[in-house]
Amino acid sequence: MTTLSPDRIDAARELAGVFSPGQRVCLTTHVNPDGDGLGSEVGLAHLLRAKGCEVTVTNPSPTPERYSFLFHDLPGVDRSDAAVKELRKSDLIVVLDISDLGRLGMLGGLVRDRGVPVACIDHHVSPGLLPPGPRYVNPEASATGELVYEIAAANGWKLTPLAARALYVAILTDTGAFRFSNTRPHVLRVAAALLEVGLDPEQIYLDVYANAPEGRARLLAETLQTMVVEREHGLAWVTVPPGAMERFGATPDDLDGIVEFPRSIAGVRMALLFREIAAGRVKVSLRSVGDVDVAGFARPFGGGGHTKASGLSVEGSMAEVQSRVLAEARAYLSGNGSR
Ligand code: 5GP
Ligand code: MN
Repeated sequence: MTTLSPDRIDAARELAGVFSPGQRVCLTTHVNPDGDGLGSEVGLAHLLRAKGCEVTVTNPSPTPERYSFLFHDLPGVDRSDAAVKELRKSDLIVVLDISDLGRLGMLGGLVRDRGVPVACIDHHVSPGLLPPGPRYVNPEASATGELVYEIAAANGWKLTPLAARALYVAILTDTGAFRFSNTRPHVLRVAAALLEVGLDPEQIYLDVYANAPEGRARLLAETLQTMVVEREHGLAWVTVPPGAMERFGATPDDLDGIVEFPRSIAGVRMALLFREIAAGRVKVSLRSVGDVDVAGFARPFGGGGHTKASGLSVEGSMAEVQSRVLAEARAYLSGNGSR
């Protein structure tokens, strides 16, 4: 198996030291949770239940249908509908896959003011503010699920097939199914250890990627029609047509992966997906190729994420936001692609 450095083992043991039997632990992740946020929560929920903790998942957004299978074997654990009430009863909060109160949506203020320790397990490069508590953070990690695995391994916690499956989903989704640059030897060793617990990778693939509503493919088709490519700048972008999400009954999760299409074009160094998330507010998903740093690009707009995958949201009409962000992107790419 993979080895951890002594300081990582110490950090993993220190984090595990805050859990005790009977404690009410709330797990939470960023708005519009993805496979890594949810898989990490479910994996940790199984592990902490086995330690006698009372665990609930309290997220600021609902679980996308795609990942609901992870919760079928944990009845009652996802209390996101009653998140505020549950968080008020918590003895300990664990924030996963984000280090910033600002990305906890309407739960941010409550987590800030609750007055209990707030542990954090995360792999984002963008620092953020959280109340005090133990940290297990490593921006080099491919996924938060990899870090939850390390905490289990460093503390000798036994992985059940259900915990292993959730952590495998976390890693699978955040590495783009083992394609992105974060697919490092260490994460493949972790994935191998998870499979050895007795998982069926084909079934997991089917659950995550081949169980889509029809609207997802139709939304993809309409959104790709909007693609603009500027070869001279290495820039390509797509825009979710106004009203298309509603027309197809789509959720934000259905947009996952669309930005990979503009990114896949030869010569593109930065790809963007624009979507109006509320009247006068536009969200932008950014992806880069090569050494362009899109987390750095997003920072002045109040966004962040990873070097090669980031996001931001800004006030303005679609036309205003596009002209501002694209002008900035052209200038950024004409420079050295970092801040
Ligand atoms: P996505 O484009 O898939 O929503 O997000 C890609 C990455 O950027 C994720 O790691 C996500 O956490 C981060 N990200 C997306 N939107 C935002 C945002 O509005 N603010 C910050 N700080 N990070 C974001
Ligand atoms: Mn992640």
